[in-house]
Amino acid sequence: MGKLLIVGTVAFDAIETPFGKTDKILGGAATYIGLSAAQFNVEVGIVSVVGGDFPQEHLQMLEDKNIDTTGVEIIKEGKTFFWSGKYHNDLNTRDTLITDLNVLAGFNPIVPNNFTDCDFLMLGNLHPAVQMAVINQIPKRPKLIVLDTMNFWMDNALSELMEVIAKIDVITINDEEARQLSGEYSLVKAAQKIHEMGPKYVVIKKGEHGALLFYEGNVFFAPALPLEEVFDPTGAGDTFAGGFIGYLASTHDISFENMKRAIIYGSNLASFCVEKFGTERMESLSREEVQKRLQQFKELTQFEIELG
Ligand code: AMP
Repeated sequence: MGKLLIVGTVAFDAIETPFGKTDKILGGAATYIGLSAAQFNVEVGIVSVVGGDFPQEHLQMLEDKNIDTTGVEIIKEGKTFFWSGKYHNDLNTRDTLITDLNVLAGFNPIVPNNFTDCDFLMLGNLHPAVQMAVINQIPKRPKLIVLDTMNFWMDNALSELMEVIAKIDVITINDEEARQLSGEYSLVKAAQKIHEMGPKYVVIKKGEHGALLFYEGNVFFAPALPLEEVFDPTGAGDTFAGGFIGYLASTHDISFENMKRAIIYGSNLASFCVEKFGTERMESLSREEVQKRLQQFKELTQFEIELG
């Protein structure tokens, strides 16, 4: 069984979409990645930090999904990272209203002993200095390192982010962020520029328009499943990344062919995430439901064509 370590935020989110508004609910990049990766036969652990205001029941819920939370530090006198966002009518774009780093500011991550030999490492969205500190605590380089980041860190910690990008194998990034990072409008040119920064594989997420995987001049596309009900896209990108690396870790195969399957698994899981607010849908998701929807994915994209 693959061993997957995830670093990222475990957070409180307050979300507003055209369909409603939430108070502080469970969120965070590592939370969504963990819930998604736990759908596969992999040993999953999280490195993160929360404050004394974080309910034990959330950590228990993750433990109940076989996600090891030993690496989630609790700073009793501190407050948990808080993010608030508001989605536009198309649900594909959002404004960040509040980012309160709280305990994340000055966080010194410690990889638990039982995960220093992980073979898959997911650097979820948080400060690149924290991502780098985690890389440096793993003596034998993992088989695959995947990085997810966002515009907030490009704006606030670009040089540290570039150092991390130089060390990883796969970057997952959304289209606007790929443009910001590369300075190119065309996503093909953006991917080329990002390859030059380090990663052999570049995954560009396009929300409800699917995701592109670039590798050595090849490109593969996974659509997003057209859904009847989309309530809240928060965490879809992280759920995608969790499905992607969870599948690779469970199969122990990091070939380009298997990565194609992995982005389909990632898209499939993300399609569930958006059906309810916050983590609710991912918490109740069964493997049977996942398998059933994979069939729909196959039907969506499969066609026969004669090439003359
Ligand atoms: P996504 O919708 O996949 O981009 O991820 C949304 C999650 O990212 C939310 O649950 C937030 O708590 C978390 N988040 C938002 N901003 C940041 C940030 N600057 N660093 C780390 N995590 C963040």
